[in-house]
Amino acid sequence: MKELATRCHTVPASAIRAMVGKSYGMDNLISFAFGEPDFVTPRRIIDKGIEVLDAGRTFYTPNAGLPELREAVAASYEPRGMHYTIDNVIITVGGMEALLLTMLILLEEGDEVILSNPYWANYYGMVREFGAVPVLVDVREENGFMFDPAEIRSAVTPKTKAILINFPSNPTGGVATAENLKEIAKIAVENDLYVITDEMYRRLIYSDERFTSIAEFPGMKERCVIIDGFSKAYAMTGWRIGYAVANEEIISNMIKLQENAVSSVFEPVQRAALDALTGDQTPVEEMIAQYKIRRDLICDLINSTMDGKITCSVPEGTFYIFANIKGTGLTSEEFCSRLLEEEHVITVPGSGFGSNGEGFVRFSYATSEENIKEGLRRIKAFIDRIQG
Ligand code: PLP
Repeated sequence: MKELATRCHTVPASAIRAMVGKSYGMDNLISFAFGEPDFVTPRRIIDKGIEVLDAGRTFYTPNAGLPELREAVAASYEPRGMHYTIDNVIITVGGMEALLLTMLILLEEGDEVILSNPYWANYYGMVREFGAVPVLVDVREENGFMFDPAEIRSAVTPKTKAILINFPSNPTGGVATAENLKEIAKIAVENDLYVITDEMYRRLIYSDERFTSIAEFPGMKERCVIIDGFSKAYAMTGWRIGYAVANEEIISNMIKLQENAVSSVFEPVQRAALDALTGDQTPVEEMIAQYKIRRDLICDLINSTMDGKITCSVPEGTFYIFANIKGTGLTSEEFCSRLLEEEHVITVPGSGFGSNGEGFVRFSYATSEENIKEGLRRIKAFIDRIQG
């Protein structure tokens, strides 16, 4: 048989799936692995999906998505003074497909894309899938996992096509300040770069500061592709719906390529998403309030009961913490594998998010307070044993 495409070998497998794979067959598991709300989609949104399905709306929809939903997405930026129209929006199968289409239309083989290190592993894989080159810039715990603009500047080369940013960040939970984003925006303008800004977690912020998009800064609207969706804020992961917002040239090309990718998104899903976006936001606010309680709980347990062997800064966004495990003397892979085998607790090694994630472990706290307490009790037992 002829060889499979080289991208089968250049794209790394997911560390999250690997760790979950190791847990198959184990009982009494506590999982901090998945970046997925443990809440079921709010009832009103489910009912809308059922209603549209019951009405027999089972056909293809336009490649771009339903005009009503595109309009509602565009309008959702108005309160922040960002003016978009329907022509700036495409509806996709999750934020994931929005990212994939973005890379399809932006990247040529050999183009460089600046990513943070640690990064959300899928970015690295996607950039490689297109034969482009991820250029990694370290972000550090002591700096709230924000980019140092000077380091981005020195990573830019004539081949740089885009900077990919993701705040609030998976895996670190870090949220960039407006001042920091402004500096990155300047670099993009000066070097004529695109910025892919993944804002999937923008609703999940726990400080009083409002979320700022890098697309808000001068000269940025035209060069930004905003990636967003419904999975995290509305607990709609399995529905598979998201969107991209960008200039008309980018969006019209994404719409063209959508035909050869997935054609269109299922109408009941789009109508449910429209209801999610335009209806009462109380269920979202309630979920966010719960995540904040859990964040405080897990950070407090880590920082007060682990004898300094594991520590974490308190992240301002997402439902992740990126805990520093350097005090245990274990690598992040050893830590997670042993914790799984010995205590049946699933976490994800920081090294799965890039070399600069070594020494850290990602916890998703999208799980109940009981699970957090029990999981941390087991981790404490594990720490006591390895200190032995
Ligand atoms: N971006 C980030 C940073 C994510 O963590 C995820 C999901 O985990 C996505 C995008 C994709 O989300 P979805 O495809 O479910 O909309």
